[in-house]
Amino acid sequence: MSSTRALQALNGVQMNTKSNVPNGNVKTPVKSSVTKPEKKRKKEKLSSLCKTPPSVVRTRNGRGYHRGLFLGEGGFARCFQMKDEAGKVFAAKTVAKASIKNEKTKTKLLSEIKIHKSMVHPNIVQFVDCFEDDINVYILLEICPNQSLMDLLKNRKLVSEPEVRFFMTQIVGAIKYLHRRRVVHRDLKLGNIFFDPDMNLKIGDFGLATVVSSSSGKRYTICGTPNYIAPEVLGGKTTGHSFEVDIWAIGIMMYALLFGKPPFQAKDVQIIYDRIKHNEYKFPEDSTVSEEARVLIRDLLSTDPLQRPVLDDILDYDWFKSGPFPSSVSVESLRQTPNNLSFIAREESLINFANCKQAVGIHEVPKNPVEILKTDLESEQPKALLPQSLSPNNTKSKYKEVATVNIKSVKSKITNQLANAHNDNKTISSMNDQLSNTLYAMEEIESGKSRSIRTSGDPVIISKWVDYSNKHGFSYQLSSGSIGVLFNNGQSVLKTVDSNDICYVALDEKSGWNISHYQGDSIPMLLSRYVEVVDFFKKYMNAHLADVSSGSNSNRFTQDIFLRRYTRDANYIMFELSNGTYQFNFKDHHKIILSDCGRTITHISPAKEVETLSLWSVLENQNFIKTPEQFFNVKYDFMKQALRDKILM
Ligand code: ADP
Repeated sequence: MSSTRALQALNGVQMNTKSNVPNGNVKTPVKSSVTKPEKKRKKEKLSSLCKTPPSVVRTRNGRGYHRGLFLGEGGFARCFQMKDEAGKVFAAKTVAKASIKNEKTKTKLLSEIKIHKSMVHPNIVQFVDCFEDDINVYILLEICPNQSLMDLLKNRKLVSEPEVRFFMTQIVGAIKYLHRRRVVHRDLKLGNIFFDPDMNLKIGDFGLATVVSSSSGKRYTICGTPNYIAPEVLGGKTTGHSFEVDIWAIGIMMYALLFGKPPFQAKDVQIIYDRIKHNEYKFPEDSTVSEEARVLIRDLLSTDPLQRPVLDDILDYDWFKSGPFPSSVSVESLRQTPNNLSFIAREESLINFANCKQAVGIHEVPKNPVEILKTDLESEQPKALLPQSLSPNNTKSKYKEVATVNIKSVKSKITNQLANAHNDNKTISSMNDQLSNTLYAMEEIESGKSRSIRTSGDPVIISKWVDYSNKHGFSYQLSSGSIGVLFNNGQSVLKTVDSNDICYVALDEKSGWNISHYQGDSIPMLLSRYVEVVDFFKKYMNAHLADVSSGSNSNRFTQDIFLRRYTRDANYIMFELSNGTYQFNFKDHHKIILSDCGRTITHISPAKEVETLSLWSVLENQNFIKTPEQFFNVKYDFMKQALRDKILM
């Protein structure tokens, strides 16, 4: 095998038909600066500073990569084939060091690398490695040899609805994955979505991606590609933007694929922006695209970001089930509409759609989560409901609450409701901060950057519980002895074991929660009904339920620990306690608890053996030591995912 010979184009197609001249003066669509649309600056692209890399690029640790064909060019980078010594071919996104002129550009590149590196999803271009030589930085990526959706559209002019259904499902799956990790891509467009050898879509180019912090939730930088920019991005400093800009871009791509060009297309960028701001677009009169597709596009292209469907809702639109859905897309699609699409029967289409969703990581949430505890009060079946006030179903309802607060002064008539909405937002954000801190500490420990030592004794946990949220709320006993009820309105009342004193937790506008203590003889009348319910559960739990803890905790009522939120899943129930303890009761009766901001971990076996260790030592040992847990790694992953998911709620 000749090591220096340029690699051959894969699949016999040149990678980028418009720009396949190595080192040539290529013209690729550029992200134009939208900050100053009026000044049409004809700036040299930074990517032009990137010279063709040497025929063998050596990494610092001595690995050699043979440079192959030029694949394409963006605003910042040029991309080349690279073959490793074993003959495996990659794409190397190559950035000239000369183009990294200031700290800002360096930070931007490092952020792209950091974000992309952390992504593993079947529909995201896989990051492989990153290295540098004297002239370039190389980001080694999974190669996508079948060009991009942009190239497909250029070849085909229009794409059929069945194919677009398939593409949209894969795109939604990948974006859902990104958003769950709080990453907004911000540059989703046909040219940044590539095809792998099996014609599966892969989202690439994380150059504008950003991680939305849990506290602010909005970005104010104006960025993107004119045709794909969401209206709120054009609002710049005043409105801010978030995850919904990616949903908007899905709408633009869907329109472009089905109708042949982006909806707000114009020669002049300023006209594009004006059209976007005024939502001025039409469906071509001669098009036969179905009404179901138009309904989805209209919703995706809602000017108000809150009106756009959330990712899970998108796949519930009739359009996905209203026509043929192929099981895969073949390379034939790059050139022409495959002629077998209309023969896919309805049943087969539904199966293909379900399989496609499954493959992209979108699982149907079981409508009736498996009951972990088969206990019930009276004859009614307890329902697995979260208190509505603490658990918005989706980002749309969460943002709605925030939006409602903004109009508080105008609509004084509904102040009570608004106060609640405001509280909800506060509570969610303070829970999010605690979750982020815990995840951060866990990741530092995992990466070896920090070592944790066990700092405290066994954590206070929930030792008994009854989900009675279809009537009153969720009742629990803490291992410290106190009994509490998290009522459906989000308030909690806790009682110690051995006195009539109570602790009352109300949602508070500033802190998220306000805790008051009352002695048994001075409980306000207003709370007496709550106390009755607590007493009722106390009696019930003592009579019916086994205690899962070993009972070693003293009464720690003074620590004001209470249950903030609980989540039921098919595999576990998760409790979030006010002191930052996260308890997972798995269906197989093992319990794993993270406490002390993720630094301490506890295992309670079905036989109630308790082992509390530092997370560091458990990860070092890859399991608990005295009470190893057969599926520790799987459960640990579940737990981390659950923490991440809660941040995104
Ligand atoms: P930029 O950040 O400069 O916009 P991109 O990430 O969009 O750079 O990459 C530039 C071009 O390189 C793309 O348009 C495409 O032609 C090619 N390219 C990028 N990633 C891959 C890949 N994984 N496989 C094949 N070609 C790629």
